[in-house]
This record gives sequence, C-alpha cells and structure tokens, in this order.
Amino acid sequence: MSDAENTWSPDDMRDASDSSTDPHSSLDEAWQRVTHRMRKDIGEAAWRNWIKPLRVSRLEDGTLTLEASSTLARERVTSQYADRLRVISAAECGAVRKVEVRVVNGGAPRLSQQKPRTEAPTRTEADALGAGLDPRYTFANFVVGKPNELAFAVARRTAESTNVAFNPLFLYGGVGLGKTHLMHAIAWHIREQDPSRHVVYLSAEKFMYRFVQALRFRDTMSFKEQFRSVDVLMIDDVQFISGKDSTQEEFFHTFNALVEDGRQVIVSADKSPTDLEGLEERLRSRLGWGMVADIHPADYELRLGILQAKAERARIPVPDKVLEFLAHRISSNVRELEGALTRIAAHASLVGREITIDSAADLLSDLLRSSNRTISIDDIQKRVSAHYGVRVAEMFSARRARNIARPRQVAMYLAKTLTSLSYPEIGRQFGGRDHTTVMHAVRSIEGLIASDSGIAEDVQLLRSLLAN
Ligand code: ADP
Ligand code: MG
Repeated sequence: MSDAENTWSPDDMRDASDSSTDPHSSLDEAWQRVTHRMRKDIGEAAWRNWIKPLRVSRLEDGTLTLEASSTLARERVTSQYADRLRVISAAECGAVRKVEVRVVNGGAPRLSQQKPRTEAPTRTEADALGAGLDPRYTFANFVVGKPNELAFAVARRTAESTNVAFNPLFLYGGVGLGKTHLMHAIAWHIREQDPSRHVVYLSAEKFMYRFVQALRFRDTMSFKEQFRSVDVLMIDDVQFISGKDSTQEEFFHTFNALVEDGRQVIVSADKSPTDLEGLEERLRSRLGWGMVADIHPADYELRLGILQAKAERARIPVPDKVLEFLAHRISSNVRELEGALTRIAAHASLVGREITIDSAADLLSDLLRSSNRTISIDDIQKRVSAHYGVRVAEMFSARRARNIARPRQVAMYLAKTLTSLSYPEIGRQFGGRDHTTVMHAVRSIEGLIASDSGIAEDVQLLRSLLAN
C-alpha cells in the first residue's frame, strides 16, 4: 500500500445526505455537527442546558442566526459560548464570522426531515474512517527498542491524551523505520477510545494534490474548511512539500489555525525540522515548537526483536539461529527485514524443508549483498590494491604519487559507500589520516565517476567483487 493511498479523509465524515438540494436541511445537518462537537467540548450538563435547546435559523452574509427560547438563554449563550460556536460553525458550515442569538418566544421548532445525528459515528462512517489505515500498524504490533523508544513513548502519550499533549508532534527518521506505522497506531488508538474525534491522516503528497485540485476548481474555501474542522490532523512525509511554495503556504496556515484552536497536529518527515531543506524558515521553525522525536536505525537487538515478533505472529517456523543471522546481515531498514522473512516463509512452505542459515543466505543473496556488514575495510584495501597492482602497504603509506594516491582514494570512497564507518574511522584505518582527507577523496572519486568512464568501470567492478 502506498502512503499516498493511506488517506483518512475529511470527506468520509460527511453524510451522503449532504448532497441534498434543500439548503435548510444541509444547514440543519451542519448544525447537528456543531452541537455534537460542542457537547464534547463543554460537557453534557452545560450542553443540555444551553446548546441543545437552540434552533438554527439561517446563515447569511457570514452571520449564523440561532434562536433561543428566553432572554436568559440568549445572554448566557452570547456571553459564554458564542466564540466557540463561531469557530466550530466556521469549520462545519463554511464562512461564519459571527453568531447571533435571537429570542423566539414559544417558537415551535421548525419542521425538518433530517434525523438528528447520533452521538458516535454510524457503523458505515466508522468503516470509511479506517479505510486507508493499515490494520497491522498498531501499537501492539510495534516492537520497541532503544532506537525507537522515545518516538514510541510520545506517540503513545499523544494517542492517549484527551487534551493536546505536544503540539505539533514531529516524528522523523529514515525510510522504513516505522514512522507511518506509529502514525496509524495513533489513529487506531484514538478511534478506539473516542470514535467521535475527527482524525484525518494523509500523506503530504495527498495534501498537495487536494490543494492543487481546489485551486483548479477555485474552491480553496472549502478546502480550508475541511481541514480546519478536524480534531487531529496527521501529515505523513512532510518533506514532500519541500520546494512547493504555495502548498507550504497553505499547510502553514492550516497548521497554525489548528494549533491555535487547540487541535492536535502530528507530522512526520525523513529529517529533523532544522535539516529539512526547501522548507520556508517560518514553517521549519514552527514545526520544531512542539515535541520532536527521532527514530534511529534499528540496531541488532531491535532487528532481532522485530524478526522474532513477526515470525511468531505469522507462525513461520524459523530457527533462532537463522533469525540471528538475518538480524546480523540485513541492514537497519525494517521493511527489508520483513521482505526477507516473507521470502523465507514462502520458500519454506514450497519446499517443505526447514530453513537453514545456508539456504537463507542463498535465498537472500541480493538483500545480503547490499548490507554493510558483509564488507570489511580490510577486504576493500586488498581488492583495490590487487586491482591496481600496488602493494597493500601503500594504503597506509604517506606517499602521494598519483599512481598510488588514486587507488587509495578509490578505496576510501568504497569504504565510505560500502560500510557504515564514519570519515574519522576510515581515516584512522588508512594510516591515521585526517577525516577531511577522506572527505576530499570521496568527493574527488564521485566527481571522477561522473566524468571519467575508466574510473566509473573500476569502481563498479570493485564493488561487485567486494559484494560477493
Ligand atoms: P516509514 O514510514 O518510517 O518509512 P513504515 O512505518 O512504513 O516506515 O515501516 C516499514 C515497515 O516496517 C512496516 O511494515 C512497519 O510495520 C514495519 N516496522 C517498522 N518499525 C517497526 C517496529 N518497531 N516494530 C514492528 N514493525 C515495524
Ligand atoms: Mg512512511
């Protein structure tokens, strides 16, 4: 499932009957939604006394007119609830700038065909709500370890709080480390706890798509209203709107409106707010105001934990030794771990034989090949020296003759791209060189790969030799 499809859309909340052509009936329905939300906001008793008896009369020129049955009721509503009513009505009914209450003595309620909205969303609505959410992405299915414990804890806290805990909650980390999983988990949890809370989950890409569509149909007003009426807004992979200025602008305003109104906003990205390039400064800084939690690449223990949990849940009998082998040899991307397990399971059920380390290695050779862990700096130095016909000792020597310096640079480049070692660590293993020397070497070779096909071929050949 692509993230772009994981849309939990505000549209899904709208009753199908909204398409009714009777303007009164749609105003009534909007009013039902307003009172429904007021009930949650101000509590049952106040709601029963002051809001429930109100009738909606009309919406004209931005003024929403309500009818009360006594002066006392009018005063009370005007002094205590008018602001809240205005904000919520603006979200539910469109351009409401003012709320007026008139007294109608003994006024019989206007007859209308609509049925009052029930407290919780109906079954159909609830199903539509969850349509884009992956049922497997729950807190219960999330394996917690050192690299993700902070992100997990704040996600849980956010999901459990009835008031706004951290605003915004900003989750970031590399590909396949569980950002989307945690966001869906929050949505599931909230939905379970309080189905009346209006949660919208969508990818930044989808957000932009909708916005562009609204621009095209000159309907930005209702676009805004849609988003501004949510209780919890989640935007996944916000880096997608980098460099897309008008979408950013719109997101910024939506974001501010929600935060100011005390709604929860949750955002994910592949980098921290400060490192997100192509994002307007004010948006970047705004995103960092709440809680920023990062997910680190999974370490060995977490990888093993995830593999064990998934194997168990899927009832795939994989020996511990094989799981340990996989945890060692497959990189930190959890999605790849899952892929490996699926493949092993499929194979095991086809051949009907127990899986061993050898058969796993065979089956997953392509995945293991791309893993950092299989290649040592030692291997690299030996292979590169042999390829260029220089002595291995030259890798550590101080000689700067070109026929020696170039192979050394290639080796440093391969060390950087094929292992997880840092620049300083690589420098140390090349005769105690400074990290800037390694950085320079990596950049030079990158440049040469682009401009010199001889070097490009050397590097490619060495790469494939090393990977086997
Ligand atoms: P991201 O959005 O960060 O790219 P995803 O949330 O899509 O990553 O995670 C990729 C896959 O790995 C998903 O199938 C997810 O369920 C799984 N996954 C990631 N982290 C964990 C974890 N800690 N426990 C269990 N499954 C995980
Ligand atoms: Mg994701």
